[in-house]
Amino acid sequence: MPGIKPSASLTSLMMDKQDVTLTSLTQYARRPGATQSSLLQSARQPAPEEKRNTETEEKKAVPAPKKKRKKKHGITANLSGTRYEVIRLVCEKCKFDICKEDDPNSYLIWSDSFVSADRITELKPFQRINHFPGMVEVTRKDCLARNMMKIQRHHAEEFNFVPKTWILPADHSLLQNYAKDLKAKKKYRTFIVKPANGAQGHGIQLYRNAEKIPPSEHFIVQEYIDKPLLLEGYKFDLRIYVLVTSCDPLRIFIFNDGLVRMSTDKYVNPADANLSNLYMHLTNYSVNKHNEYYQKGDSVETGSKRSIRYFNEYLRKNDFDTMLLWRRIYDMVVKTLLVAQPHLLHAYRMCRPGAPPGSDSVCFEVLGFDVLIDKKLNPWLLEINRSPSFGTDEKIDFDIKSALIEDTVRLLNIKLSDKRRNYFAQKAEAQKRLFRTTKRNEVDMSELEKKRLNIEKRKEELKEQLARVRKATAREDFENRNAGRFRRIFPSEDKLKQQKYVNIMSSIFGVVMSGRAPAMQKEIQKVYNNQWREEDILDMIAECEADEKDGKGGVNKVQRGPKPLSSMPMSVQSPPMEDEFELEEEDEEAEYASPPGSPSLNRRESRPPSTKSRPGSLRPDSRVSNDASSLCNSRPNSGVSSMRSRPTSNMSAMNSRSKSLSRINGKQSILQRSIIDDNFLITVVKEREDELTKKTLQALNDMRIKFPGKTDQEAEFILDTLHENWKFHKPRIASYWLVKLDSIKRRKVIDIVRSNVRAVLQRIWRISDVDNLRLYRIFTRVFNRLLWSHGQGLWNCFSTTSQNGSWETIFSKSSENICENEFNCCRRIVQLCRDCLLIVYQFAAEAKSTSQQNSENTDLSSAGTLSSRDKSSTLMVPPNTQTLSQRYSKLYPRADTTAT
Ligand code: ADP
Repeated sequence: MPGIKPSASLTSLMMDKQDVTLTSLTQYARRPGATQSSLLQSARQPAPEEKRNTETEEKKAVPAPKKKRKKKHGITANLSGTRYEVIRLVCEKCKFDICKEDDPNSYLIWSDSFVSADRITELKPFQRINHFPGMVEVTRKDCLARNMMKIQRHHAEEFNFVPKTWILPADHSLLQNYAKDLKAKKKYRTFIVKPANGAQGHGIQLYRNAEKIPPSEHFIVQEYIDKPLLLEGYKFDLRIYVLVTSCDPLRIFIFNDGLVRMSTDKYVNPADANLSNLYMHLTNYSVNKHNEYYQKGDSVETGSKRSIRYFNEYLRKNDFDTMLLWRRIYDMVVKTLLVAQPHLLHAYRMCRPGAPPGSDSVCFEVLGFDVLIDKKLNPWLLEINRSPSFGTDEKIDFDIKSALIEDTVRLLNIKLSDKRRNYFAQKAEAQKRLFRTTKRNEVDMSELEKKRLNIEKRKEELKEQLARVRKATAREDFENRNAGRFRRIFPSEDKLKQQKYVNIMSSIFGVVMSGRAPAMQKEIQKVYNNQWREEDILDMIAECEADEKDGKGGVNKVQRGPKPLSSMPMSVQSPPMEDEFELEEEDEEAEYASPPGSPSLNRRESRPPSTKSRPGSLRPDSRVSNDASSLCNSRPNSGVSSMRSRPTSNMSAMNSRSKSLSRINGKQSILQRSIIDDNFLITVVKEREDELTKKTLQALNDMRIKFPGKTDQEAEFILDTLHENWKFHKPRIASYWLVKLDSIKRRKVIDIVRSNVRAVLQRIWRISDVDNLRLYRIFTRVFNRLLWSHGQGLWNCFSTTSQNGSWETIFSKSSENICENEFNCCRRIVQLCRDCLLIVYQFAAEAKSTSQQNSENTDLSSAGTLSSRDKSSTLMVPPNTQTLSQRYSKLYPRADTTAT
């Protein structure tokens, strides 16, 4: 974003003078026939005496309309608390109305000094003020030192960027002991003593001998960093600007420019003779400007004050690892603010009770971090300024600071409509509260009504959560588009780094809050680990809605049963429920359904196509590839049948896929910035993603559910037999899946497929953490849908006719667009889950049948296939399968295989 040029400031300042004549302009405007230009001209020229007289007469003749005070309709900015002209200029540039007085209702309030907690409490949600309560915990030197020391005790390695500090007078004896130790080891250090609440280098002194430091009140002592990196032989520090837009949740941005402030006497190692030379040891502008050698720079590359952009260039030219330095600085900034976070959050929530978490923050803060770089390129945090100077003595100040404020104001996203929106939101909230108090007493409700109420409550919660997630997404999107020269450093886009920060934050809360920490730590994980996504919540709302429907339609449906006649596949008739096959005991089911002893997925080498089809089958038409895989067992392919056509909504969604692809890892808008490069990048990423998705599909097609103790052919045969005798098996499987298995066991069945799919994705996409992978998120939605409505989701997949409850509808309801290969992957996953259920069911049935045979000594040789219901009612498996299962069930009382 272009900064405002000084010329602009001058023009605006001149405009100020014109503004003074505004009253006279208005007077002229009342004259009939006056044009705008003539008005301006007349306003600039002193009006002739006689004209004035005439006008006075006119005024007397026509009673002047009552002078109305011009009402401000724009975004108002209260700048009465700041002395900096540049802030006013930027606000003007942003077309804000600047209030003449200290208007407490302004949209934007900017103050150079401390803002009381009461003032923050009184703010309306649409207002913004430039300070956080609680920030003092890191902006006062002694508070920063105290808080850092506390955390350093637990994370010494992570927080080693603050020079060793003692707070006087409390730590005076510790300091003396330290000095004695050094003396004994014949080590010599320099110490710098600073007022605890000082600024601009006031009251700073250097000591070589710590024993001479008096235990004065309100001072801190720091070990002096005596090997700083030098710029043309001068010591310097960096003024880095950091913007915090919110603390609930925490959002931190860093500005990509700042100031390099150089000392004005060349640096030499500290010695008794030069300790008092503050022009050499201090880098403050306020100190060095008094030195005759202070150079006002004509450009950003010369003089005693330079830009960070210039500094980066200098580092690059001199072969320093610039990236490494900035990584360290970002890390330092984030960690420092993590230390502040418990205080910020506590103070903010105290000031704004009842503000929904995630709502727009009324506070923001531009902080000035003073950072010293040593010879090893380590950044050292000297102090944080909560009101960094926005003085614009030099051009470089103006250029950097005006751009900084402009980008800050833009990121605040202040809108005129905020006020109105806030009014309606408050009204709605009040109505909601009213409703809450008048609702019926739960004690008087029937069980069914209570259930409905619970579902309603859950739906409400989910809707609120959805609104929050959508708001967060919109905010992120806005930030990406409007960050200007800011870069967001927390939350980090790097997932591993983010996880690390979240853990540190959690630990800091543990240290600071002790007993009250666990609840906060739970909240931290929830807020910052991005657990819920829009699609997940939409799915859950859909589930609630389905439950609601069930509740309304079927009063008899208190306990969820197989609902065989309404929801089972329509192609075959269900046998009466009293004929239901008795499956094994619950405990056994649990074992079979659980991953360690359950059927697992298996890759295979080749699979010849089969002509058999299965009832309600959703088999993919893509043939299994013949590529040799070392892990695979071969088995014949038996199940290729018709593929159900994809709903049109999904087809159209496929067409608009380009949008969703460029959203990889949420970086869409970043990618869009540089059109040419980025388009190329998008295409490359798209192609790569397509390729990997294809590979995933191939791998999924190669997967088979393994029946414990049987070959793949035998497992395949079992599946085919189950499908051939679907009429018989359908009620049994329904009963098994929907009634016998509880939600945990059902999840375990699905998890057999899920864990193997994860492994495939990890291998193909070469990432250990697949949770954030778009494809895996899509799969997660499918898995959730299959478990949807107490297992009804998967059961619907056995139906050839049920379109409504089909898993495919999840993609027509949300904004997510999926491509054909992604859709085919999902289809394959659904098929694997179905197969998995059938195998688990059959395995359980065989185990049951085996135990019956053992006890009753039944002759099994007479058993036939499952083609007739009479036979199958006595025997669940065809003879060859049964014999094998008998044999293997002894060898493998539980499923023996693990996923490959
Ligand atoms: P102030 O708020 O008064 O500016 P600072 O802590 O920023 O106080 O210190 C002023 C200057 O002193 C810094 O800009 C830096 O040049 C120098 N300084 C401060 N602390 C140290 C230190 N520990 N080691 C080396 N130089 C320091």
